[in-house]
Amino acid sequence: MSNTPGTILGHRGLDHEEALIFEQDSPGMTGVDLPAVPAGPDRLGGLARKGAIGLPGLSEPDIVRHYTRLSRKNYAIDSGLYPLGSCTMKHNPRLNEKMARLPGLADIHPLQPVETVQGALKLIDEVAHWLKTLTGMPAVAMSPGAGAHGELCGLMSIHAALEHKGHGHRRRIVVPESAHGTNPATAALVGFTVDPVPANARGRVDLDALTAKLGPDVAAVMITNPNTCGLFEGDMRIIADRVHAAGGFLYCDGANFNAIVGRVRPGDLGIDAMHINLHKTFSTPHGGGGPGAGPVVLSAALAPFAPVPWVVHGKDGFSLVETAAAAGPASAGTAKPFGRLKGFHGQMGMFVRALTYMLSHGRDGLARVSGDSVLAANYIMASVSDVMTPSFDGPCMHECLLDDRFLKDTGVTTLDFAKAMIDEGYHPMTVYFPLVVHGAMLIEPTESESKRSLDDFIKVLRGLTAAAKAGEVARFKNAPMFAPRRRLDETRAARSPVLRWKPKLEQGAAAE
Ligand SMILES: *Cc1c(COP(=O)(O)O)cnc(C)c1O
Repeated sequence: MSNTPGTILGHRGLDHEEALIFEQDSPGMTGVDLPAVPAGPDRLGGLARKGAIGLPGLSEPDIVRHYTRLSRKNYAIDSGLYPLGSCTMKHNPRLNEKMARLPGLADIHPLQPVETVQGALKLIDEVAHWLKTLTGMPAVAMSPGAGAHGELCGLMSIHAALEHKGHGHRRRIVVPESAHGTNPATAALVGFTVDPVPANARGRVDLDALTAKLGPDVAAVMITNPNTCGLFEGDMRIIADRVHAAGGFLYCDGANFNAIVGRVRPGDLGIDAMHINLHKTFSTPHGGGGPGAGPVVLSAALAPFAPVPWVVHGKDGFSLVETAAAAGPASAGTAKPFGRLKGFHGQMGMFVRALTYMLSHGRDGLARVSGDSVLAANYIMASVSDVMTPSFDGPCMHECLLDDRFLKDTGVTTLDFAKAMIDEGYHPMTVYFPLVVHGAMLIEPTESESKRSLDDFIKVLRGLTAAAKAGEVARFKNAPMFAPRRRLDETRAARSPVLRWKPKLEQGAAAE
């Protein structure tokens, strides 16, 4: 509360200072009338609760207001431009939501007998079909629950394929520095060692340095394309040929597929495994931990090692292959699934949204999605490049990377600049990532912003840049001034998070 201005209750205009629901407790208050519990014999064997249950008592209108006010504190793509680079925060068409709520899709259970959910299995099969078609790849594992989970799936498939060939000694994964941070993390989690390759002056992987690292102990090259500098890695085909010649596989982080969908087929680039973030390319509300879906397309060499389950279509309709034993005869003994990644069959609600998005856009519409996302990012970059500092020459893909050279000697940092954007009504762009440039600002406008929306955003970037260069340092150091909270101690919050709220009584007792 210390940060709120001097209004009587700490509210800011119509934005209320909201107490925790437990602090709003009126003991005994309830929004529902429950019938009295009929008297009967005690069946709890002495385990009956002795104290209060500890749930807050509130009336129905109090609860509705609490959650409505909280929802208004959540900046979302539905409230404004959300330029968070590498996250693809784009409009989620309401048609997707309508389809996901159809009772025949929303009210089914993954343990229902397959003959009662033929439509749902057909839908999974259809999403799989379009992912294979759009990527030019022969197989896809549908179950991974996020992009990073897809990376795990891809690397475990590679691991299984290497073990099968008797190449278990291949333990090294070559990862360019322009890769997403999840890439080296995943490689390490699967037990590989991570060998970084520097970026060249053009923001792409240094081909000679990468080639020099290939050898008999290399399991794979793991490369993000478009990379986290927002640039297309043009040497993919050469890299694929070289890593294959060295006996390894090529993993591509395809989370940024939205920049190339409908225009480039990763299968044509020699890629062996690539995850696709359905929640980015094919829309779905995401952030704050979910939901996500990261299906992984696989080359013919890796397809046999894909995890269960998958959908098959026989003369009796659709069914699921759920175990390695079941996989054997159905595929003439060629399938050797490495195991299972998660319960059930994948993120069904997201499959519905992804298919809706694909079918409503069509092939030409999807090509337009990638075209417009690239155009929007380049429009921003071109509109600020005379005053801010784009990190690399030439056009970008779906996001543009700037660094802090334009702030030199102003006393303003990338963090200050980002905080000042909050005062101007914008969620900041991704900052200090990627690490390959100093004080990075990574902006991804996506294809769903209008020209007017982009022009307003550009006006704010240019206005703040002018203010920084004019020496208005205090404006930046004090920002955000108009947000419900000012600068938080983010380091302390990360190092010693307070994860449990204690009632006043307990707090008092703890202090004594
Ligand atoms: C978003 C992203 C990821 C991680 O995806 P999650 O669904 O958050 O796990 C990985 N790589 C790149 C390039 C990304 O943009």
